[in-house]
Amino acid sequence: MRPVIKWNVGEEGVRAEYKPYGNAKAVLLRNFGHSPNYYCNYCDRLIPMVNMEVEHILPKSVARYEHLEFSWTNFLLSCKNCNLAKGAENIDFDEFYWPHIHNTRPIFVVNVDGTISCNPGLDAAEQNISQETIRLLNLDCGHTTPRRQPQDDRYMAREYVLRLAERKLIQRRDGKLNDDDIIELAITNGFWLVWMQVFEEFPGIRTGLIHAFKNTYEDCLDDNIIRAHP
Ligand SMILES: [Zn+2]
Repeated sequence: MRPVIKWNVGEEGVRAEYKPYGNAKAVLLRNFGHSPNYYCNYCDRLIPMVNMEVEHILPKSVARYEHLEFSWTNFLLSCKNCNLAKGAENIDFDEFYWPHIHNTRPIFVVNVDGTISCNPGLDAAEQNISQETIRLLNLDCGHTTPRRQPQDDRYMAREYVLRLAERKLIQRRDGKLNDDDIIELAITNGFWLVWMQVFEEFPGIRTGLIHAFKNTYEDCLDDNIIRAHP
């Protein structure tokens, strides 16, 4: 989950409310990506603009959150799978990690089958929140773990990009690719966290990935999940 800087109301022409809420999509796309490359705020996958959805962080169909249906502060961008996984669960905001609030770079690890696990290096309280976030979004769904949706291919897409990144790592180590080649591949294939994880030994690539994906939280290499600044 790429930690992002979400614009505040008043910044970049952002309004407090968008009615209907679909009108916020263009602004969210501009906030988090560059045409034609846009990514789900939760699973990091590359999504064509037409398939991207305005996601209500706190579900608009839950009575106590109905008043947030048009509120900018309650929006993120997500793919259909992440939106469906969250559904209308009556959640409390403080029980999860969010990409625009927390430094979500250290909370997850990408597994060889493309699923997501919580980082075993976190303390017990952090692991609980990380695990709850995975459960909410069903990010551990894979070949052997339960699927809540028949058409959930997020782990397959992530596994494909993981294999690609691992092949490119070998070529980078051999000097057959440079840092910019890797960053370009990451931008056009998505799954920011996969590239950050695979290229851990190349600090220049990781810094490049932080700057190339629009509005990534700059201090995300810090291991603190609580952000030092907004
Ligand atoms: Zn997603």
